[in-house]
Amino acid sequence: METIQEIAARVYEFGNNSADGNSTMKNLLGGKGANLAEMSSLGIPVPPGFTITTEVCKEFNELGQEAIIGLITPEVEKAIKNMEGIMGAQYGDTKNPLLISVRSGARVSMPGMMDTVLNLGLNDEAVIGIAEKTGNERFAWDSYRRFIQMYGGVVLGMKPQSKEDIDPFEEIIEHLKEKREIQHDTQFTIQDLKDLVYDFKDVIQKSTGQNFPTDPWEQLWGAIIAVFNSWNGARAIYYRKMHDYPDDWGTAVNVQAMVFGNMGAGCGTGVCFTRDAGNGENRFNGEYLLNAQGEDVVAGVRTPQQITKMGSQRWAQLAKIEESDRAENYISLEELMPDIYKELFKYQNILEQHYKDMQDMEFTIQSGKLWILQTRNGKRTGSAMVKIAIDLLKEGLLDEKQALLRIEPNKLDELLHPVFDPNALKRATIIEQGLPASPGAATGQIVFFADEARKFRNTILTRIETSPEDLEGMNLAKGILTARGGMTSHAAVVARGMGKCCISGAGALKIDYKNRLLTVDGKEYHEGDWISLNGTTGNIIEGKVATIEPELSGEFGEIMKIANKYATMAVRTNADTPKDARAARKFGAKGIGLARTEHMFFEVDRIKAMREMILADTVKGRRHALEDLLPMQRSDFEGIFEAMQGLPVTVRLLDPPLHEFVPHQLATQKELAEDMHISLSAVKNKVAELQEFNPMLGHRGCRLGNTFPEITEMQTRAILEAALNLKAKGIEAKPEIMVPLVSTLNEFIAQEEIIRKTADTVFKEYDDTIPYLVGTMIEVPRAALMADLIAKKADFFSFGTNDLTQLTYGYSRDDAGKFLPIYLEKGILKADPFEKLDQEGVGQLIKMATEKGRKIKPKLKVGICGEHGGEPSSVEFCHNNDMNYVSCSPFRVPIARVAAAHAAIGKG
Ligand code: PEP
Ligand code: MG
Repeated sequence: METIQEIAARVYEFGNNSADGNSTMKNLLGGKGANLAEMSSLGIPVPPGFTITTEVCKEFNELGQEAIIGLITPEVEKAIKNMEGIMGAQYGDTKNPLLISVRSGARVSMPGMMDTVLNLGLNDEAVIGIAEKTGNERFAWDSYRRFIQMYGGVVLGMKPQSKEDIDPFEEIIEHLKEKREIQHDTQFTIQDLKDLVYDFKDVIQKSTGQNFPTDPWEQLWGAIIAVFNSWNGARAIYYRKMHDYPDDWGTAVNVQAMVFGNMGAGCGTGVCFTRDAGNGENRFNGEYLLNAQGEDVVAGVRTPQQITKMGSQRWAQLAKIEESDRAENYISLEELMPDIYKELFKYQNILEQHYKDMQDMEFTIQSGKLWILQTRNGKRTGSAMVKIAIDLLKEGLLDEKQALLRIEPNKLDELLHPVFDPNALKRATIIEQGLPASPGAATGQIVFFADEARKFRNTILTRIETSPEDLEGMNLAKGILTARGGMTSHAAVVARGMGKCCISGAGALKIDYKNRLLTVDGKEYHEGDWISLNGTTGNIIEGKVATIEPELSGEFGEIMKIANKYATMAVRTNADTPKDARAARKFGAKGIGLARTEHMFFEVDRIKAMREMILADTVKGRRHALEDLLPMQRSDFEGIFEAMQGLPVTVRLLDPPLHEFVPHQLATQKELAEDMHISLSAVKNKVAELQEFNPMLGHRGCRLGNTFPEITEMQTRAILEAALNLKAKGIEAKPEIMVPLVSTLNEFIAQEEIIRKTADTVFKEYDDTIPYLVGTMIEVPRAALMADLIAKKADFFSFGTNDLTQLTYGYSRDDAGKFLPIYLEKGILKADPFEKLDQEGVGQLIKMATEKGRKIKPKLKVGICGEHGGEPSSVEFCHNNDMNYVSCSPFRVPIARVAAAHAAIGKG
C-alpha cells in the first residue's frame, strides 16, 4: 500500500484562470505559491506555472537531491506541458522556446533572502529562436547573458560571499565597459552581449571545472535544487532568527513562465501598493521602469518613475523638476499607457477587496499585455499599520476584532518613539533631499559598510544601494540612507518592514566607498561624521538634531479603544518616577505594577545619605541616615501617587545588594570618608566587606529588610505618609507594599509584621488611615513551590520573572551575555528566556504558584512585573493563566494592551 506521503501531490499547477491550490495553503505552497494559485482563480492574469511544496523541501533535506528529482519528475513534466499549452511555446524548443523562472517562496515573505533564477531554457540555439520570435536580437542576447550570470552565481556557487570578494561576472562587464569606453550596460552592442556570453561561459568553466549546462532540463533541476539549498543559506538563517521563524518550515519552489518587460517598445515592469506603505493613506501608488526586468526596480539600480499622475507630480515637486519637464521626461504610467493603467487599477481593487488588506503587487507589461506577477500583504510602517487597520474597519472590510488582529503589537513601538523637535529643525542645515522611504527620525554617525554598523553607538548606514547581504547592518543602524533606488527599492521595503527610518534615491549624493567619503555639492562628509535623517520628509540633515515625544494620531487612539474593549487583563507599568508614571498613564496604564525604590537612591543628593546608612555600624547610625532619606522617599511617593490619581501603585521595598550603592573609586571613597568624618581605610574596609561572591544570591531582597528592619520601617513610613498627605489634599492613593525575593513563608511574615506595625504607628500619628495591601514577589522557585502557604499571608503575588528566570535556569542575568548568543546561534535555546518568557519551564512554576495561591485565596490578585510583561507572547501566556495584570515599561504599555486584547480574542 502507498503511504499518505506517497499519494499527496508534490506539485500544484496554476494558470489560465484556474489552480490546484488556493490562498489558505500558505504552509504547503508558501506565500507566493498560494497567492499565485488564488490570483489565477480570481481571473487575474498571472503567467502560468506550478509550485513544488514546502513538504518537498523537507524531504529534500532528508533524502537528498537524487531521490527528490526522481520523486517529482513525472509531476513536473506534466506541469511543464500544461504551461506550454497556455503560453503556446515549448520548453527546450529552439525555434519557439518557453522560458521559465524558478523562485523561492516560504510561508512568509523573506525579501531577497533566498535565491531566484530567471530565463531558464536559454542556450546557444534557443537564444536565436527568441531573437527571431521577438524580432529583438539585442533583447535575446541580453537575457541570455543575464541568465548565465544569475545561474553561475546562484546555482554554480560563484556569487561573492563578502564585500572583499570580486564578482567574476561583474569584473568581465566592467572590463568590457572600460575597453569600449562606455558607462552603462544599455550601451553594449549586440556583439558585446555575445562576447559577454562567451566570456561568462569561459569563466564558469575555469572556476567550476564544469561547462555551463545547455540542456534546459539540467538547468531546471539545478535551479530547483539551488532554491531548496538557499533555505539553509546564511542570509535566510539570519532572517529567520531575527523574526523567530522556525527552521523546519522550508521553502516552496515556484516555477513559472517568463514574461518580459524588457523586450523593447510597449514593455515595462513595476511594483505597486494599494495604499501608502509609509503613512497608510488610501492612495494607489507605485513605480515602474520602461523596458526593464522586474529585478531592476527592486535592486534600485535605476530610479524608477511613478505609476500615478498625482504620485509623479509629488515626486517631481520633491526633486524640484518643472511640470513640463516632468510630463515629458518623467511621465507616469497613467499618462503614458492609460489602458494598461486602468486594467492595473481594476486588479489592485479586486485584490485588495479579496485579501482585505493592503497589497504589494509586481507587474510586467510585455508588448502591450499586462501580467500580474505577484501580490502579497504589503510591509508597512507602524503608523501605516494603524491607519490601514482603522480605515479598513471604517470601509467595512474588517470588523473590530479583525482590525485589532492586524496590529502587530511590537510594531507600535515605532509610533511611540521620539521625532525631531520642530524648533531644532528650524535651525537645521539640510544637506540634500531624498525619497521619504520609511518615516521616523534618526541621528547617527556615518558608516559605509553594513558589517561596520556597530562601529559607533548610533550609526547611519550610507550606501549607494543596499542588498540582502546588508540586512544585519541595516538592523543595527539607526537609519539607512541610499543614493539610488526608489520607494520600492530593497532598502525602502526592508526598512519599512523593520520600522527603521530610511531615505532612498538621494541622487545628489556621491559615495566613495574606497575613501569612505560622502560628497554632496562639493561638501565632504567622512565616516564618523554625524548626520540626521528625517524619514518622513526625506530631508538629510547635517549633524545631530534634538528629538521630542511623538504626537499620537487619532487612529492610534481608536485602536487603543478597541483593545480596551476586548482585553480582560489590565496593563500596569513599571515606573520609578512621576515623569515615567505620567508617560505610562498617557499610554493607558491602569496602575503601577513595580516601583523600584532603589532607583530613587542613586540621585546625587540621596546617594550620600544612602551610603552613610550602609556604612553605619550600628542601628542608631543607620536610623540617623534613614531619617535623612525619609522625606526624600516620601516626596517621591507623593509625586508618583499624584501622577497615578487613585490607580493602584505597587511599591517594592529595597532589593539590590548594598555594594551597588557604595563607591568603588578612590576619589569618591575619599570624599565619602571626609563627609562622614571617618578614615579612608574604614570606608575601604566596609566596601570590601560588602563584596560578595554571588551578589545576586547574596544579601539582597527581603534579606536586607529582615537583617536591617529599620530600612523596611522607613520605607513603609514614607509610602503611607505620602498616601495620607495626598488624602489630606483630596487625592486618592492606593499603595500596595511588595516584599522582594521571598523564598520562605517566615521571611514574608517577618517583613509583614514590621510593615503592619509601622502602619499602625503612622495611622496613630496621623489620626487617619488608608487602605493598603502587603504582598510579595514570586521570583525564587521555592516561593513558587510554597505559594499556597505564602498566599495565606500575602495579599497579592507579582511574578518577578527576571529573577525567576535567572534562578530557574541558573543563568546569571549579569553574565548570560557570554553564552546566550552562542546558545541562540547553535539553536541550543530557541529564544532568549530573559526576553521571551520560557512558558514550558518557568511558565510551569507560574502556573503552579497561581493555582496554589488561588486555592487558598480564590480572588488572589496576581500580576507579572519582570521584563516579560511587555513582550506579546508572554502577555498572551499571562492572559491564559488568568493574571489580573501585566506590568511593563511605559513605552511598552500600548504593545501590552494590544497583546492582551489579542489574547482575549483568542488569537493564540
Ligand atoms: C524581577 O526579578 O523580575 C523583577 C521585576 O525585579 P528586578 O528586575 O528588579 O530584580
Ligand atoms: Mg527581581
